[in-house]
Amino acid sequence: MTRCPNCNCRDIGKIGTSQFYCWGCFVEFSVTGEKVKLFQVEEDGSLVAYTAEEAAIASTNI
Ligand SMILES: [Zn+2]
Repeated sequence: MTRCPNCNCRDIGKIGTSQFYCWGCFVEFSVTGEKVKLFQVEEDGSLVAYTAEEAAIASTNI
């Protein structure tokens, strides 16, 4: 995993064995095999899971 699955940028940092953080869209994601889980980091620091499909819908609404 060298690119963010959400915004496709390369500016990602590794925060765990299979967890990454994207500095482009401020999204955390974990990779398990071929499955990618996205997490949005809320202002209070909590993580909210959402799917890539939802992210795509959200980005088209901006
Ligand atoms: Zn990103």
